[in-house]
Amino acid sequence: MKKIIAAITCIVLILGFAQEDDTSKRKLMVKTQLKARDISDSATLQAMSDVPRHQFVPENVKKYAYSDSPLPIGNGQTISQPYIVAYMTQALQLEPGDRVLEIGTGSGYQAAVLAAIIDSVYTIEIVKNLSLTAKDRLQKLGYTNVTVKWGDGYHGWPTKAPFDAIMVTAGADSIPQPLIDQLKDGGRMIIPVGPHHAVSHLVLVKKKKNKITTKNLIPVRFVPFTRKNKKN
Ligand code: SAH
Repeated sequence: MKKIIAAITCIVLILGFAQEDDTSKRKLMVKTQLKARDISDSATLQAMSDVPRHQFVPENVKKYAYSDSPLPIGNGQTISQPYIVAYMTQALQLEPGDRVLEIGTGSGYQAAVLAAIIDSVYTIEIVKNLSLTAKDRLQKLGYTNVTVKWGDGYHGWPTKAPFDAIMVTAGADSIPQPLIDQLKDGGRMIIPVGPHHAVSHLVLVKKKKNKITTKNLIPVRFVPFTRKNKKN
């Protein structure tokens, strides 16, 4: 009996230390990769401190979960570098009551960061495998305000529109018109735009009284926005 209790205590301590380790890695990530650069929005910084990024990446890359880089998530896709996740989140100037659409669920990490700030997140993923895994993961982690759908995000989500903000996390060659149409008056969209498989720019789109303005922000490299031929 004593041996069993000692073994259980040991496991609890190891799990506790591992969790402590992830929390401190996350704190360091926020300090050195975000605050030290140009991320100052308090809601974004809080969300990046709270969301357990290591729970969104495959086992073999977990030890790199808090490093300053993108990581593979399977099916040839990637989870963006923490700085890019924070940069895109901050650029949308979110308010707690906002309804936001994300295109490119991937691991579900970006959706969780958005869900830590706002009321309702809708996210669409074209790869069925990734969509199902992300849905399950978000549910297990308790993100009840995220709705995941498998499909081609080009068309947006007309039955849930209009949105206060839209975030596209795959590199498109142009801004899909249906997404512009589904933005509210005063809505914002952030999307990487550029030639296929080349460097794109994050573009911030604003809609005001049916007038669309666009602003090129930083250069980025994203996996491509794909169309039609849904995989799996
Ligand atoms: N936001 C994700 C990472 C996105 S990687 C995260 O936090 O993990 C880009 C994702 O966009 C990939 O999973 C890719 O399959 C998906 N994607 C590409 N084209 C798409 C489309 N037309 N509709 C929906 N998802 C798309």
